Amino acid sequence: MTAAPATILRQHLIDPEICIRCNTCEETCPVDAISHDSRNYVVDAAKCNLCYDCISPCPTGSIDSWRNMPADRAYPIAEQLLWDSLPAQIALDQGTEVGAGDTATDLPDDVERIAAASTAGQGGTAPPPWSAAHPYINLYGIHAPAVATVSGNFRLTAADASSDIRHIVLDFGNASFPVLEGQTIGILPPGLDANGKPHHVRLYSVASPRDGERPKYNNLSLTVKRVTEDHEGKAAQGVASNYLCDLKKGDKVNVVGPYGTSFLMPNHPGSNLLMICTGTGSAPMRAMTERRRRKAAAGEGGKLMLFFGARSPGELPYFGPLTKLPGEFIDMNLAFSRVPGEPKHYVQDLLRERGADVARLLQDDNTYVYLCGLKGMEKGVEEAFTALCQANNLNWNALRPQMLQQGRYHVETY
Ligand code: NAP
Repeated sequence: MTAAPATILRQHLIDPEICIRCNTCEETCPVDAISHDSRNYVVDAAKCNLCYDCISPCPTGSIDSWRNMPADRAYPIAEQLLWDSLPAQIALDQGTEVGAGDTATDLPDDVERIAAASTAGQGGTAPPPWSAAHPYINLYGIHAPAVATVSGNFRLTAADASSDIRHIVLDFGNASFPVLEGQTIGILPPGLDANGKPHHVRLYSVASPRDGERPKYNNLSLTVKRVTEDHEGKAAQGVASNYLCDLKKGDKVNVVGPYGTSFLMPNHPGSNLLMICTGTGSAPMRAMTERRRRKAAAGEGGKLMLFFGARSPGELPYFGPLTKLPGEFIDMNLAFSRVPGEPKHYVQDLLRERGADVARLLQDDNTYVYLCGLKGMEKGVEEAFTALCQANNLNWNALRPQMLQQGRYHVETY
């Protein structure tokens, strides 16, 4: 009598050595299979339906980890939470050993396959614009970070502003660290957390164009706000932001990445950028705007329209340089929310005010929309798009999925 074939589960796991704990996977998972504690992000095998929605948004690829396990021996969450690294692939029945990281297609023929068809690319984030340059990702990990040297740390906000936002320039010396506008890098703060473990990586958007903060120098810049309170307004010192904001010229910083394959700019002539941001969410917009400014003579790109929200001019990073850009280069719309004696303005209010011009841009197949900053503005901006489209004979509910699918609508909010 032959034994019934073993039921092998293609178990979805997260590599704790690579994961930067950015929460993207947990936010994306449609069946709440992903959870975390202060140490690890983990996947509940009983809930995971292998839909692959979480795969493409993950900036590091740590989410794309799999082990072929007998279904009754799947790694429980409690065990995954204790891991410092992924276990090796166990030997399966019939003396067949499946290599670590191999997929279910490598299973022996006589086991039942549970793996679902891949839907990667259908859900998750939008594809990049068709004319985006090819991004490099994951060149440096937490075990072998690039070491950058601080070549500048300047306060961007006014001396009397409530927030300390800084422009930090990192020089990579002889190390190759290629980035594109819209990509992020990870900073490894030194020291240990409350559990005696190294601090997790914190992600920051690159604020300079691909050829560097200073062209022909191997450097890049970041826009960092010193975090002094948590989301509820209680005093809390952000580990990475305070570390970065206190850096001095010449200090060394461990950097991982780069990350990001979606939130990238188009490069073809005639491509328009509609950029909407709040606070430090302006970092990728500065990178894209500066790229366009440097390439303007070469005829790269089309119209630029920017909606930028801050509490006041003194709190708006890059206010001085921005306001010096000519109107024919960029259509700038600044929304201030806390200027004494003036009504509160958010970016979505200005989108409505400029509704006819925004609708004209949205109708153009060459328009690419970028949204970056506070999570809360996403809803307001979506509502503004709905209203301004309606007022201009467009249907945002139909346009939005079309733009997402074509890599023309990109959102990065926190
Ligand atoms: P902030 O100073 O707290 O706020 C900026 C402006 O947005 C203020 O005028 C604020 O108005 C307004 N605002 C608040 N709620 C809003 C809403 N629902 N809709 C539209 N506007 C709203 O901003 P921040 O602290 O710099 O935060 C920026 C965000 O960008 C953070 O979440 C950060 O994580 C994220 N980010 C940063 C980077 C980076 O590289 N540093 C990159 C990407 C994203 P009020 O007067 O009402 O507060």
